[in-house]
Amino acid sequence: THDVHIIGGGLAGTEAAWQLARRGYKVRLSEMRGGAAGERSPAHQGDGLAELVCSNSLRSDDDTANAVGLLHYEMRQMDSLIMHAAAKARVPAGSALAVDRDVFSREIENALTSHDNLTLCRERVDTLPAAGLTIVATGPLTAESLAQSIGAATGADSLAFFDAIAPIVYHESINMDVAWRAARWDKGAEASIALGSDGKDYINCPMNKAEYLAFREELLAGEKTVFKQWEANTPYFDGCMPIEVMAERGEDTLRFGPMKPVGLDDPRTGRWPYAVVQLRQDNVHGTLWNIVGFQTKLKYAEQQRVFRMIPGLENAEFARFGGLHRNTFLNSPTLLDRQLRLKSSPHIRFAGQITGCEGYVESASVGLLAGVMTACELAGRDWIDPPRSTALGALLAHITGDAEAETYQPMNINFGLFPPIVTEKKIKKADRKLVYTSRAKEDLAPWLAATGLGV
Ligand code: FAD
Repeated sequence: THDVHIIGGGLAGTEAAWQLARRGYKVRLSEMRGGAAGERSPAHQGDGLAELVCSNSLRSDDDTANAVGLLHYEMRQMDSLIMHAAAKARVPAGSALAVDRDVFSREIENALTSHDNLTLCRERVDTLPAAGLTIVATGPLTAESLAQSIGAATGADSLAFFDAIAPIVYHESINMDVAWRAARWDKGAEASIALGSDGKDYINCPMNKAEYLAFREELLAGEKTVFKQWEANTPYFDGCMPIEVMAERGEDTLRFGPMKPVGLDDPRTGRWPYAVVQLRQDNVHGTLWNIVGFQTKLKYAEQQRVFRMIPGLENAEFARFGGLHRNTFLNSPTLLDRQLRLKSSPHIRFAGQITGCEGYVESASVGLLAGVMTACELAGRDWIDPPRSTALGALLAHITGDAEAETYQPMNINFGLFPPIVTEKKIKKADRKLVYTSRAKEDLAPWLAATGLGV
């Protein structure tokens, strides 16, 4: 018998299991790899728990001016198993927290399998359990039968199997002397006016013919990442075609597609430009804007170079680069409640990348949250959300409601998810990250004290 069933022994599932086991709850952890059937995901190479499938870096460990470094700090305050294992497995990598992936996995597996409260079952789970507290942490490559069961519970439209990520830029880095705000035909949608918008919902970046042609050339020439073999059959859904594939189809395809200028009078000329790149607000704070229709396989450095050719984006800072991968994830803002529970079956929580966060550390941190939320529920205590000014709080709020449900795509932690800092004097850009991190640390401490979740 167990108190909680956790499905998936990756970054999120192991962290959730640790948080529950160390609080005295009995956990059954089901991991499909390592069983008699020889199950593997297409990306995992071995049978170890919490395998890092690609890079061996947990990214920046700078907790004074970096959002992922801040997440490290916050997880350490909560006795994170992933952070303990990373400390033991650390290899030199400057300010990044890089690890020996085998030592890292072994540390995690040893800590869990030696714990009296944990039973590790090497088994594949094919259906969502009908009852009993459950955490589903099966990741971006959730096995197909379980994915079907999840799809049946959520509705097929709410479970994606591929992401199609358009790049996101920080609002403050857009040159509004060149770009302007407007809706096509000057028609603000009633739905957005009801939300208090003035109807000028898009940021528009104008291009003349020479700029457009040069930009298309670079889209075609730019270096792309290739699909992994198991991704090769990636279907290009309607509206999800990479921008460079569209560019290949003809000189004017973009101008008649996502870069269509019709109905957009440039206030400087009073006329429609030759082409227009549009950006749409991506979060409630208005700090992040996505480039509409610009999902791409261009390499990150190429995206920065090519997209900075867009007038108005010449100094753009990217909160997230574009991409297209196999990735099983839920439309969490509509499906999950504030505690990561499936609204239609609240005994089931989701954790890790399947919730629509992106990255090893983010996945582990959402596993940590799912673990402590479940522990609270078992103890009969009310859950108190982490402050939104913390990295944990900002990521949780993004997943469970702040993000735009219609365009929901996987997201790394970044300062654009945090409530903006309002001060009378403008804070210098270099200082802003310091202010975000110190505010987060100040706000985390009383929350840890009030909830008893700190170490
Ligand atoms: P996972 O770590 O994948 O864990 C899920 C576990 O569930 C797996 O062990 C799997 O075997 C198991 N499982 C699946 N289905 C079942 C089932 N039905 N029953 C039982 N067990 C099941 N992030 C980075 O930060 N850096 C990178 O370099 C990076 N590279 C990536 C490369 C690839 C190819 C992919 C797909 C993702 C990459 N990511 C990267 C993104 C992501 O952060 C990782 O995938 C991360 O491991 C997600 O954590 P998770 O716990 O949600 O899922």
